Order: sequence, then C-alpha cells, then structure tokens
Amino acid sequence: MKSQIDIAVIGAGPQALTLVTHLLQKKQALRDRIQVFDPSGTWMAQWQQQFAAQEIPYLRSPGVHHPDPKHTLFNFAERRQDELHLPYNRPGTALFQDFCETVIDRWQLRDRVTAAQVMKLTPLPSRFQLQLSNGEQIEARRVVLATGGGKAQVPAWVAQVNLHPPERLCHAQDVCLPELPDLTGETVLIVGSGQSSAHLAVGAVGRGARVLLMARRTLTEKLFDAEPGWLGPKYLKGFQAEQDWQVRWQMIQAARNGGSIAPELLHRLRRYSRSGQVTFYERCHVSNATWQGEAWQVQCSLPTVHDCLAHQSIDRIWLATGTQTDITAHPLMGEILERYPNQIVNGLPVLDEHLRWPGCELFLMGPWAALQVGPVARNLHGGRMGCDRIVPALTKASVARTVA
Ligand SMILES: Cc1cc2nc3c(=O)[nH]c(=O)nc-3n(C[C@H](O)[C@H](O)[C@H](O)COP(=O)(O)OP(=O)(O)OC[C@H]3O[C@@H](n4cnc5c(N)ncnc54)[C@H](O)[C@@H]3O)c2cc1C
Repeated sequence: MKSQIDIAVIGAGPQALTLVTHLLQKKQALRDRIQVFDPSGTWMAQWQQQFAAQEIPYLRSPGVHHPDPKHTLFNFAERRQDELHLPYNRPGTALFQDFCETVIDRWQLRDRVTAAQVMKLTPLPSRFQLQLSNGEQIEARRVVLATGGGKAQVPAWVAQVNLHPPERLCHAQDVCLPELPDLTGETVLIVGSGQSSAHLAVGAVGRGARVLLMARRTLTEKLFDAEPGWLGPKYLKGFQAEQDWQVRWQMIQAARNGGSIAPELLHRLRRYSRSGQVTFYERCHVSNATWQGEAWQVQCSLPTVHDCLAHQSIDRIWLATGTQTDITAHPLMGEILERYPNQIVNGLPVLDEHLRWPGCELFLMGPWAALQVGPVARNLHGGRMGCDRIVPALTKASVARTVA
C-alpha cells in the first residue's frame, strides 16, 4: 500500500528548515503531517559540504539571517562573540552550524528527514505521487520543492574540450579543497567572479599553487551579494509593483550583477596579486582549452592582450560559473510542466503570491521563487521571505486553493 501524507518537503537545506520551523510555529498540529526528503537523511548536509569543500570561515550574510522564527543567533553566541565577524556580525561557519543544530533539536526535527532522493514527481487529481530512490512511493496532498540551486552552469567551450583526466577540469561544486594534494608548482585557472571563485583562489594559494583568476567582468567588491535594500521595502516595493515579469527578471539580474566578492576577500586576493600568487585576467573569457597530456593550453577571448595566457602551462581549471536557473531543466518538473503549463520568464516560473505553481498545490522555494521574492530568494533571508508567503497557504483553509 502507498503511504499517504499531507505535506512533502523535498530537500532538507536551510530553506526547508526555515519553512518547517515557521510552519510549526504557526500550527503545531502539522508536526505529524510533514515529511521531509533528502538523500543525506539529515538537515543541512549540502550546506555543510559546500562550506567544508571551499573552507569558508564565516557566512557572507549577517547573523540575523537564520532558520529559527523565535530564538536569535546572537543570544546563542553570547559566549562566542569572537565568532561574529564585523561588519554586521557575520557568523562563523561552526557557530552557524551549532546554532542550526539547536534549532533542529528545539523544534524536534532530528528524525524528520527521510533518507531518500525524490526521483519523480507526478501530479494526480488533487495530490502528487513521489517516487523515492529507495523504491517507495508516497502520495502527498501538498508538496514544497526546496531543492536549492539548479545544475552546474558550464561555459560553452567545455563541450569542445578533448579527453582529459576529470579532476583537471571541475566545476566549483566538485572541488573539495581539503581533499586536494599539495599544489606547489601548479598553476590553477579559476573562471568566475563571484565569492566561490575567491574562496577557491585562497584555498589554492594556501596549497602552494599560482592562481589565474579569469572574469568576464571587472571583479566587483560588495559586502553582500545583493544590496540590503532588497531585504525590505526599500527596493522590494518597486519590484513587487512591477507588472512586467521580464522587467522583474532584469531587475534581479541587475541586483545580483553576475556575482561579486566580499571586500576582505578581494583585498586578500589583491595582496596575493602583488606577491605574484594570483594574476587577474578581467573582461575576458576562455575561447578554447586543449589538454596536452600533462597540462592545459588555454586561449582566451583577448589573445592580443593576454597572449601570455596561451604560453602558460595550466594544471587545473576550476569553473566557478554558478548554477543554472532554468525550471524547465529541473529533474522533478517534467510532468508538472506538462500537466500545468505555466509562464516561464528566462527560466524562472511565474508563481502565485504564495509561491504556488498555478493549478496545483506545489510550492517552490529558493532561486525558483525569485520573480516574487526578489534577488535574494536563494539566500537564507530569501527562505524567510518565502515562508511568509507559503506558510499562510499551508496553514489557513481560507487561502488554500480548491483543487479541481
Ligand atoms: C558556498 C556557498 C556559500 C553560501 N553562503 C551563503 C551565506 O553566507 N548566506 C546566505 O544567505 N546564503 C549563502 N549561500 C546561498 C544559499 O543560502 C545556500 O545555497 C543555501 O544552501 C540554500 O539553501 P537551500 O535549502 O535552498 O538549498 P541547499 O542547501 O542546496 O539544500 C537543498 C537540499 O535539497 C536536496 N535535494 C535536491 N534534490 C533533491 C531531490 N530530488 N530529492 C530530495 N532531496 C533533494 C539536496 O540534496 C540538498 O540537501 C551560499 C551558497 C553557497 C554555494
């Protein structure tokens, strides 16, 4: 017999944790009606893996951003003030994780995550069927998709490269600094201009490598990845008043501006550049790369300016080029898109005000909610703003859709 549940949450990252705590705060009775699915079987596994892999010492966001609706991280950090980093008290990685562990315990959520990947999501009349990686099938009345970012985004030239050892060309998601050997004498080309490219550059230099940092744009210094005005009415009022979804999409792009690096990290890279450990190649991109048996030969889009690049022997290429935000490529969305066609704007879906897919009881969090929530939708605070919209629809009968 198939299991029947009320609310299925797919993914157990910080956004899902934020949703579940806020749901329980509003309606304790939902406790036994929520089931969370994640291949790891635990909360925040991907978050922890990413922070460990890039050796990130502290968060980019301030300590006021976290998954608990009631308790503050600052109270928890009373005796750990040295782990709050100025400006804006950005929490250390361990402090944030320890706080999240107390959130999981306080809300009694430790055993709430089923260790399974959702392989398929099928809409049925007035409910959904979830096919799990452990072979089970679950039916859920309502589903929240909190699976985080999309697949790795890779530049077009990658499709043309010849046969090479896989570890010599990796997306940032697949680089794990602690597992790397000593890189003394190696040259690593890092492509990208966001915070991940900077963390990886610091990690490579720390292991003795020389780093070439290549960015399509001029490297931009910004404390947060979007201006704080996007966290409240200052910018969101105008954003939400905008009726044209294309214009909203452009506003999101302009606010995120293709990635930026926090000031202290960029200063550190500039210091490394003065000592020759990092070389910046700005406003250019790779046009092709050939594996020559022992190293890469790379040509860039500005060969007359950066002729020297073609003569460098490059040992590794890391692509810190972000993730795709195309909902039509999401592995769980195929049958939903077929059964409930919806307006998609450059990969982002147009959802209702409760972040619900039009026509069914499927709610989307993270980057997929950006047309409603704004440019910080994928971040911790975006998760909080997403909850403000989703929780009323899941807890109050008056805003629940009547399913045909
Ligand atoms: C290196 C890095 C540092 C960041 N630092 C910050 C920061 O300091 N502050 C900030 O606000 N934001 C930060 N972000 C952005 C964002 O907050 C994080 O990406 C955050 O992890 C997003 O939370 P999430 O719950 O949406 O996704 P994730 O943490 O990615 O969690 C999604 C979960 O869904 C699971 N999943 C996916 N598909 C399925 C499926 N089919 N079935 C079951 N489970 C599935 C995954 O295994 C994963 O565990 C950072 C991002 C990165 C990459």
